[in-house]
Amino acid sequence: MLDSYKHKGLRKVLVKQLKEKGIKDERVLKAIEKIPRHFFIEKYSAEVAYEDKALKIDAGQTISQPYTVAYQTELLHIQSGEKVLEIGTGSGYQTSILVELGANVYTIERQKDLFNKTTVFLPKLGYKANFYLGDGSMGIPEQAPFNKILVTAGAPNIPDTLLKQLAIGGVMVIPVGDENVQTMTTVIRVSETEFEKVEFAQFRFVPLIGDKAW
Ligand code: SAM
Repeated sequence: MLDSYKHKGLRKVLVKQLKEKGIKDERVLKAIEKIPRHFFIEKYSAEVAYEDKALKIDAGQTISQPYTVAYQTELLHIQSGEKVLEIGTGSGYQTSILVELGANVYTIERQKDLFNKTTVFLPKLGYKANFYLGDGSMGIPEQAPFNKILVTAGAPNIPDTLLKQLAIGGVMVIPVGDENVQTMTTVIRVSETEFEKVEFAQFRFVPLIGDKAW
């Protein structure tokens, strides 16, 4: 796998586009500029890999649009050493961004093919995470609490299982809506029993499928 000046140049252009679309967090932009997205989607040309678009990956799933990845990551405000649960490993691209920001990532995927691929590929690239195969709508109770929870598929509602696994002071970012459109939502756990919800822009994700989802 080759990461040439051409690829680096295409990433610079992508970062410029993300800034123009409103992404401000320099750490997030730096991670996007560093990570070779084309390695995660080898069947596409370099030009296509660095368009600001979601693309099809194996198992009928998608790698999210870079803008969506940046938007969700910005809302998380990741601090180094935080324990982060990511639901929907997919291609592993978002996982690598979280690791790059210094998070201790627990990532779960329900599609075996994608799980098998990322468990080998990400460590090879130098991104160490804790990989799980299963239904992420149930979270990973034995590893809770998490400082941050990121859901990268569209949920019909906010699973209570995930609320329970959020640390006090922790933040969850989750797209919530119907099959066609979801509202990016953050939930902050203020105390044992109190949660604060804020809604942001609308997006379109593949569905979160599971016991506490579709
Ligand atoms: N973060 C991914 C990336 O960077 O490529 C994007 C993933 S894609 C938009 C959403 C992923 O969520 C898919 O791979 C899908 O199989 C997965 N998914 C859907 N429901 C899930 C569940 N209940 N548990 C775990 N993964 C799930």
